[in-house]
Amino acid sequence: MASGLRMIVGPMFSGKTTELLRVLRKYAIAGYSVVLVKPSTDARYAVNKVVSHDGLEMDALVVEPRFTGLAKVSKLLYEHNVVGIDEFQFFEYTPDLIKFILDLSNERLVIIAALNLDFRGEPWEVVKEILPYAEDVKVLRAVCTYIDEQRRKCGRPASRTQRLLDGRPAPYGSPRVMVGGRESYEARCRKHHIVPRDWE
Ligand code: ADP
Ligand code: MG
Repeated sequence: MASGLRMIVGPMFSGKTTELLRVLRKYAIAGYSVVLVKPSTDARYAVNKVVSHDGLEMDALVVEPRFTGLAKVSKLLYEHNVVGIDEFQFFEYTPDLIKFILDLSNERLVIIAALNLDFRGEPWEVVKEILPYAEDVKVLRAVCTYIDEQRRKCGRPASRTQRLLDGRPAPYGSPRVMVGGRESYEARCRKHHIVPRDWE
């Protein structure tokens, strides 16, 4: 059985969860034991399941989003051949968290899905710290859903996540973590990713 670290990154709606579930299912069908982990931060859809925006789902182990949360389930993780982690950006960055993932991926195949950037267009520290260690990085894009004044859709590949508050771009000072779905987020290209600066 292969070991190592694979990453799946992109904005919201780019298919990260779909891709993670696809790869995990493939290994499960081939007879490998698979476990999926998610941070307790993300309670969209279901608490102990990972669910994609299209409704694909798989049972998941919910952990506190920090090193101690993973350490508590360490034994269980090492009992599986393949470990998937969804929404990795929500884990708190500490060097011991990164070391935990690297030690695990020396012996098991670890597949991590994470947002590339936050709603401000800035990287998540924990993602920045783990990414260079991956043997394989899959960068996904969604479709930009910006509509201009003439009601024309953009439709370009989207690499950013736009947060909306009451239908308007959320300002830079809005909290970094705010779990939500279609009502508060849209996929956008660089040109149409708008972050009003509160102080301007
Ligand atoms: P992620 O985990 O990256 O947020 P999911 O795998 O849960 O993404 O969902 C991807 C699905 O989201 C797509 O298959 C599509 O049906 C849906 N979707 C909704 N909005 C968009 C968009 N703007 N661009 C692409 N797909 C979208
Ligand atoms: Mg997802």
